Amino acid sequence: MTIFSKIISKEIPAQIVYEDDLCLAFKDIAPKAPVHLLVIPKEPIATMADVTPEHEKIMGHLMVKAAQIAKDAGLAEDGYRLVVNCKNHGGQEVYHLHIHILGGKKLSLF
Ligand code: AMP
Repeated sequence: MTIFSKIISKEIPAQIVYEDDLCLAFKDIAPKAPVHLLVIPKEPIATMADVTPEHEKIMGHLMVKAAQIAKDAGLAEDGYRLVVNCKNHGGQEVYHLHIHILGGKKLSLF
């Protein structure tokens, strides 16, 4: 059980920008860019390293919705960055897979 499970169940609040049966998107609590959103599956996949062929539908869904959510946030014209951190070396802090959407300014490479 991670903090993101509690956001899905509405036990703790978040600034939700999109929700459907399979995923949820909300504002990052500590934004690293003018627009910083997180897109998460409702199914608690821990990390990218846990993704298997069974996850093809949900992973495709997350990417399609990330594009829609980024567009709805006004990011499509100038562009944006999607980031998925994986485990320790990737800097993952919350072990519930999530896609960061970062935009609203020209981002440095790293
Ligand atoms: P990562 O380092 O890839 O695991 O990213 C975790 C992200 O979750 C960080 O950018 C945090 O700022 C963000 N975060 C942690 N707790 C919350 C929360 N309660 N609501 C929104 N974002 C959160």
